[in-house]
Amino acid sequence: MQTVNIFWFRRDLRLQDNAGLYHALKSNKPVVPVFIFDTNILEELEDKADRRVEFIHAALEEMQSQLIKSGSSLEVYYGTPLSVYKTLLSKYKIEKVFANHDYEPYAFEREKLIADLLNANGASLVTYKDQVLLEKDEVLKDDGKPYTVFTPYSRKWKAVLTDFHLKAYPTEKYFDNFYKQQAVAIPSLQTIGFIAVDKPFPSKNLNEELVKKYQEQRNFPAIQGTSQLGVHLRFGTISIRALAVKSKDLSETYLNELIWRDFYHMILWHFPKVGKGKAFKAAYDNIEWRNDSGEFECWCNGQTGYPIVDAGMRELNATGFMHNRVRMIVASFLTKHLLLDWRLGEAYFAQKLLDFDLAANNGGWQWAAGSGCDAAPYFRIFNPYLQTQKFDPQLNYIKKWVPEFQEFNYPKPIVEHELARKRCLEVYSKTLKNDGVIILKD
Ligand code: FAD
Repeated sequence: MQTVNIFWFRRDLRLQDNAGLYHALKSNKPVVPVFIFDTNILEELEDKADRRVEFIHAALEEMQSQLIKSGSSLEVYYGTPLSVYKTLLSKYKIEKVFANHDYEPYAFEREKLIADLLNANGASLVTYKDQVLLEKDEVLKDDGKPYTVFTPYSRKWKAVLTDFHLKAYPTEKYFDNFYKQQAVAIPSLQTIGFIAVDKPFPSKNLNEELVKKYQEQRNFPAIQGTSQLGVHLRFGTISIRALAVKSKDLSETYLNELIWRDFYHMILWHFPKVGKGKAFKAAYDNIEWRNDSGEFECWCNGQTGYPIVDAGMRELNATGFMHNRVRMIVASFLTKHLLLDWRLGEAYFAQKLLDFDLAANNGGWQWAAGSGCDAAPYFRIFNPYLQTQKFDPQLNYIKKWVPEFQEFNYPKPIVEHELARKRCLEVYSKTLKNDGVIILKD
């Protein structure tokens, strides 16, 4: 049997500037590049036209065409990682499996299983930082504890970051070390139970002019003022280091968003309970949500009678994207106006967002609900009308997604704003008072 090392692609679907792949290629054994369509994940996806699977598939095809040029091939499997690794162990004598860090609870469990299996077979799993700029314990408070508030975290982050953290990993120098074999076919989307929609995905190129204007334009959903790179960062089809290098001198505000991304990954790693359905601030787990299923359905379908909320939800349903400002508005509306459990909204976004990322999504939802580490205070309740005046003053975004908003067939507001605000304050303050949390005045 041939002795090899394996590189296991997960959310780092690129050959260039990939930390774990670089280390694998520099090892002393030929490297077999492997991707697993993990049935534990795929079986949870209800929508068989899920564009994220299509995105992954396209990224694999792209890597495959590059690998073929090096006389190598991706090996793409469909199954549980445990069963796939058993197959791989029967096919090759594996010395090491290389991969990049993944901070999600499911990824931990999966890695533990695989590491145990490999160890029992005389092999090992080694992982590297790739997905974020600074991770885990790299940015800590002076007392050695993790930050839970963003602003001081970001200050320390900037003090810790050096050129070393931004350096690209020159994988291409070592492509010759890929295991040589004939191209192995990648299973089609249909074979793994999915279908393609065949609409274009956001470009992976950074629009530098956009980044220069980011600070002024990023809050207006009617214009394309944000980079739409979320999906590429999510699946690693671009390198976070390369993106930071390109953008950091163009816009401090843009860099700040990349720091938010690191922040939420750091929070998920230090406080994994947030990824398992728990509020960061435990007292918020006792809020008595109304959880009216009819109202939830109206929210999902963009039929709340609040045009800015409905526009956001319709954009999400139609495209898999929603502008950040509107994500904040619809999340605040769900948790505060409707008093629906933030976990319902989080799950709906997880199902629909092309750029869905557990750490950032959970962070965003807990921020909106007030339960998060550095959250909007619970008594700050977005007024959807004022948000519209400020961020969609010409109503262009609303007109695009809710063209009938002034017509008689458009629904009446599902709940009156002032009534919803008072009700929310009552419910939140009752629960938080009972839990000994000090209540600040509205
Ligand atoms: P840009 O504004 O161009 O920002 C560039 C990149 O910075 C983004 O692609 C993203 O990777 C990162 N970023 C920007 N804002 C944030 C932020 N607040 N937190 C963490 N990272 C950020 N972002 C996700 O990537 N996945 C999610 O599942 C997700 N869910 C969210 C849910 C809610 C309720 C809220 C309020 C925000 C959520 N965000 C999420 C954060 C943010 O809305 C998106 O990252 C952003 O809208 C993506 O668009 P863009 O790529 O054009 O971002």
